[in-house]
Amino acid sequence: MVHTTYTYKFILIVFKIQGLLDIKFYFKLLMLGILNLFTISMDVNTRYQSFLNQLRSAPALRKTELIYHTPFELLIAVILSAQCTDKRINLCTPALFQAFPTPEKLSKASFEAVFAYIKSITYPRSKTTYLLETARLLVTEFQGVVPNAIADLQTLPGVGRKTAHVVASILYDAPVIGVDTHLFRVAKRIGLASYASKTPFKVEQELMRYLPTEQVQAANQWMLLHGRYICVARKPRCNQCTITNFCNYFQNNQHDI
Ligand code: SF4
Repeated sequence: MVHTTYTYKFILIVFKIQGLLDIKFYFKLLMLGILNLFTISMDVNTRYQSFLNQLRSAPALRKTELIYHTPFELLIAVILSAQCTDKRINLCTPALFQAFPTPEKLSKASFEAVFAYIKSITYPRSKTTYLLETARLLVTEFQGVVPNAIADLQTLPGVGRKTAHVVASILYDAPVIGVDTHLFRVAKRIGLASYASKTPFKVEQELMRYLPTEQVQAANQWMLLHGRYICVARKPRCNQCTITNFCNYFQNNQHDI
């Protein structure tokens, strides 16, 4: 898509130089545009095909690295994991879940009591408020059960689109994608999403357009773990990567890697 942008900037400059009267020139311009779009579309399709092929041969992955035993515990762990590592969350949740194993128990807890269990994670004050409010709503609106509809999940404090998708995917096998910071980066580097997509929602839309429904979850989890351990933010570990043959970033930067 970056390629597309540059191509059209170039075309616009030529357009200004050429003047406004040459019909043949307009025709050539139109043909070039169509050819360019066709080429880009072919590239994306080929890249998705390569990605899906490698996904089929990859070992099955766990749905999450967060430790939980009930849907309620998963929901709480995912809320806590926003902008924090799963490793850190797994250190504090066992004691939290032991003290407050159900929405009913958590909804009756004091702010200070909950805060004490999660003070070592990111944004502990906001997250304490989210947990207490979410527990209260689960009790009053959902009979103490984690809802399976994404729209219902998103009514819970601390549950945005990404969190709702992660929970629905893990608990209810919903074919949805939770675009976190790793997935956002990895999808663009591989070339499955465009650098022009500036928001997680845009990246999600691009992925959902091309991924077959039955491979959405596997693709989601593979990219997330790949971003966490191999395609890390600062310097991707391309020498350990199995998809260099179709990764857009690698193909454009291999001389610098
Ligand atoms: S080749 Fe490098 S940039 Fe591409 S996905 Fe692998 S680690 Fe990331």
